[in-house]
Amino acid sequence: MDFELNSEQQAVQKMVREFVENEITPNAKQWDIDEKFPMDVWKKMGDLGIVGTSIPEEYEGSGMDFISHAIVAEELGYGCSSMRGTYSVNISLVAKTILQWGNEEQKKKYVVPIALGDAFGCYGLTEPDSGSDAASMRSTAEKDGDYYIINGNKMWITHANSSDVSLIFAKTDKDAGARGITCFLVDKDTPGMNPLPIHGKIGLRAQDTGEISMENVRVHKDQILGPVGKGFAVAMSALDNARFTVSAGCVGTAQAAYDIAKEHAKERVQFGKPIGTRQLVQSLLANMILNIEIGRMLVWRAGCLKNQGVRNTRETSMAKYFCGEMVNKVCYDAMQILGGYSFNNEYDLERMYRDSRINTLYEGTSQIQQLIIGNAELGMPAF
Ligand SMILES: Cc1cc2nc3c(=O)[nH]c(=O)nc-3n(C[C@H](O)[C@H](O)[C@H](O)COP(=O)(O)OP(=O)(O)OC[C@H]3O[C@@H](n4cnc5c(N)ncnc54)[C@H](O)[C@@H]3O)c2cc1C
Repeated sequence: MDFELNSEQQAVQKMVREFVENEITPNAKQWDIDEKFPMDVWKKMGDLGIVGTSIPEEYEGSGMDFISHAIVAEELGYGCSSMRGTYSVNISLVAKTILQWGNEEQKKKYVVPIALGDAFGCYGLTEPDSGSDAASMRSTAEKDGDYYIINGNKMWITHANSSDVSLIFAKTDKDAGARGITCFLVDKDTPGMNPLPIHGKIGLRAQDTGEISMENVRVHKDQILGPVGKGFAVAMSALDNARFTVSAGCVGTAQAAYDIAKEHAKERVQFGKPIGTRQLVQSLLANMILNIEIGRMLVWRAGCLKNQGVRNTRETSMAKYFCGEMVNKVCYDAMQILGGYSFNNEYDLERMYRDSRINTLYEGTSQIQQLIIGNAELGMPAF
């Protein structure tokens, strides 16, 4: 067992940390206010090879391992959760899923531009009436010769309005439950795909979130990702990768909130002494850093299993459940230490607190993660 990063991982950490410090942290507040994603910064990341970190070199990625992938997510989470979210969706939900299930043509066409930072993807699973119970989706894809005709609605889709390719899950057999779902690769501007932005979000405001209505969207059978009827397995495999990335991002955001609180505790004087000398403030800080380090270890353990190519759903869900809750508590406690100064956007903590809220909700709520862990332990699905 080795708790040290190797030299390659350390180099990635150093490079991304510097990039985040120079290009992301100073601008994240304005991106949040403007509700605008910085495409130019994303492209710079692509040029540096830190978008397609864990994508193989033959598809223009950097061929790094999962620990390096987690390091990038952590550092992005430190600076801006919207950027981390885009990394999660483009790489973990979309590119890696195409790598796992796609044919050579699909990999070349879609993974390469995403890895280079030139294209965006989205993952369309959730619908207005199906979230945790994804298999109850209503969208349908009816066969019409060599084509399928997709109808339905998708909800809360990250990159709905900015995607070059959408992974759309729809029922090809309405009576077969989870076994009747198929995944389609739908190109940008395909007639019938109507995305709309969702505004007024509590967090992740720099990121594009939207709904998609699909009206007679005609897609050739060559655009099916994985086998017909295997879409649910495709969707779940994507979530295993994305939950890992989200967990790492939570560690980064929690570390950033902790660092702000720690500095404030050293500088803020009340009752004649820095508040950091007070036992109750030290107790808050001690518990914050303890939980951040537990979260990081859970992420890295899941990453080691992913590197070995062994099943890691249980360990990834543990990391997602723990880190999603942990980052919310750490941001809450950091606000306690900043007192009134936490309550506006002078400090980035205010945005971190808002951005963190999503992490117990998406990619499977905390309750769903508990059910996955419970099932792994007992072999008794509670769904
Ligand atoms: C900003 C944002 C971005 C998102 N991005 C994407 C995306 O890119 N692609 C995509 O497909 N989706 C996306 N989502 C959707 C997200 O994954 C869902 O919101 C999430 O899965 C929860 O589904 P729901 O909102 O329908 O809640 P519901 O499933 O209705 O759950 C509501 C509550 O009921 C609980 N619950 C449900 N079933 C059970 C059960 N069996 N046992 C115990 N408790 C249960 C849940 O834990 C939760 O507390 C995004 C959501 C947001 C807010």
